[in-house]
Amino acid sequence: MVTSFIGIGSNLGDRARYITVAIRQLKTLPITRVSKISRIIETLPQEGPAQGKFLNCVVQIETELFPYQLLQALQKIEASLDRVRTVKNAPRTIDLDILLYADISMHEEALCIPHPRILRRAFVLGPLKEIAPDVVNRLLGAGGKWNNLKRKKAIVKKVSMRQRKTKNNRQRS
Ligand code: ADP
Ligand code: MG
Repeated sequence: MVTSFIGIGSNLGDRARYITVAIRQLKTLPITRVSKISRIIETLPQEGPAQGKFLNCVVQIETELFPYQLLQALQKIEASLDRVRTVKNAPRTIDLDILLYADISMHEEALCIPHPRILRRAFVLGPLKEIAPDVVNRLLGAGGKWNNLKRKKAIVKKVSMRQRKTKNNRQRS
């Protein structure tokens, strides 16, 4: 078993449902176990044409799937959740990226690990830091890059499912 981190994003349609179903499907992958799930955050789009805000989260899995097997499995989940590839960085119902896979470093066009834009994406580093702070510290080194990223205010809102539940409970009581 190796540990891998999957970045999940959605900015089209029922974003929360797409993310919830994607995680449910990750849980059914063969020889794979979902071990940690970050909160879901709402973030501003960083790239591509004008488009709606994203919901993002990061999931930690333990898996025996090889990297390309995992990529294929993720693409299958994306396809089952209405993902249509048009132009680069277009709005998407669901995006599942392999952020890290054990300590592997590979640089092929079809699969680049660590994910090439991981370090400049606060919407990835934030949720990743929540579930794997050591990993983020290692990625960023001792420098204050994380604080700089935080100041960019890329993360507009924390919309954790847990928080929402608490709020609803409070309203009811
Ligand atoms: P985005 O870069 O916005 O996530 P896509 O989801 O459309 O764009 O992915 C484009 C291609 O990136 C995929 O066809 C896939 O082969 C490739 N790719 C390279 N590295 C990775 C990775 N670490 N995780 C997921 N896809 C990757
Ligand atoms: Mg992708």
